[in-house]
Amino acid sequence: MTNRRKFIKQVALQSGALMMASPLMTYNQAEKPLGVALVGLGNYSTNQLAPALLQTKKCKLTGIVTGTPEKADKWSTQYAIPKKNIYNYQNFDAIKDNPDIDIVYVVLPNSMHAEYTIRAARAGKHVICEKPMALNTAECQAMIKACSEAGVQLSIGYRLYFEPHHLEMRRLGKEKIYGKVKMIESSLGFSMANPKVWRLNKALGGGGAIMDLGVYCIQGARRTIGELPNAVTAQGFILDKTVFKDIYEGMTFQMEFPGGTISNSTTTYSSYVDRLHATSGYQWFGLSPCYNATGAYGQYFDGEIKPLKLITPAYQQIYQMDNFADCIRNNRKSEASGEEGWIDLKIIEAIKKSADTGQKVKLIW
Ligand code: NAD
Repeated sequence: MTNRRKFIKQVALQSGALMMASPLMTYNQAEKPLGVALVGLGNYSTNQLAPALLQTKKCKLTGIVTGTPEKADKWSTQYAIPKKNIYNYQNFDAIKDNPDIDIVYVVLPNSMHAEYTIRAARAGKHVICEKPMALNTAECQAMIKACSEAGVQLSIGYRLYFEPHHLEMRRLGKEKIYGKVKMIESSLGFSMANPKVWRLNKALGGGGAIMDLGVYCIQGARRTIGELPNAVTAQGFILDKTVFKDIYEGMTFQMEFPGGTISNSTTTYSSYVDRLHATSGYQWFGLSPCYNATGAYGQYFDGEIKPLKLITPAYQQIYQMDNFADCIRNNRKSEASGEEGWIDLKIIEAIKKSADTGQKVKLIW
């Protein structure tokens, strides 16, 4: 049995057994929205998640965890969060005694994802952990195990798993509406040449743009094709050595899929790019912008270029978080599960290895 099958089977057995015995069933009777506590009140929590939580129907913002007292006061007023639901990083574990909080949402630098996910699980809370799930697959496995043992659900902050344009890309690929996809281009990059930010710190970010943006490029390709890659090749590049000292400024990488499709991607911290393009030869379909949280725009070509007319939600995270609340209420596993996060980290590890060695790296699932 391959490692992945062994690992997923083991986790499924554990989580199955524990979820039967967990108190999740009681949610079926309760109609009130599930309470969410955001851990880390930085840019993403402030500008996307908290505003989205004002519009979710099945969950709402009831708590915060922050190391900055001024932020605690501001958020308490702005979102009517009672003082008893405000925690810092020292007293975080006391969240276990707070019935107002059902879900802990970890929105911290990447190196802190594993620790806070595991602590939240041990406090008996369901967890959403931001992407990338962790620094490596070993951490992912520890997080999945901790949630499974605690009988709580784990989801990764993959907002695009629930976004209409991305669901349509999957459908068009899976149903071969424009033929079998032969080639994919899937890239994401922006300018981030600031050595002071944690994303450029190897210990906190895990290795630059491939960690931060790579998950999107990988998912766009693998989910449109509906397969997992069986080999990757990658090349790292550094143009500005004064800023990018111990991480790559960007990477180009190629994924080979079992059905013969090839994908090519660039992730970078120095240039703007945001697109997913799938082609069967003559026909094509794609999104650009694609991965940004501000909304996607789609087009297809079947002899003529036409727009993909789809709903753009006010905040993509509304669908994502309501879907997770629904999973909890109905004791159903999230599609954006911990195992999905683990898959992406396994591919990222192979990409990093290929960039460092110059060799093609095979992936066995
Ligand atoms: P940010 O720098 O704006 O916020 C990070 C927060 O963590 C801050 O409130 C900071 O005070 C806190 N923090 C606690 N300990 C820290 C430490 N040791 N060093 C630095 N900060 C510390 O970052 P962000 O953009 O909000 O990103 C947070 C997480 O969310 C990241 O994992 C990122 O990948 C993810 N993210 C996801 C999306 C998405 O679309 N899903 C978008 C943006 C960010």
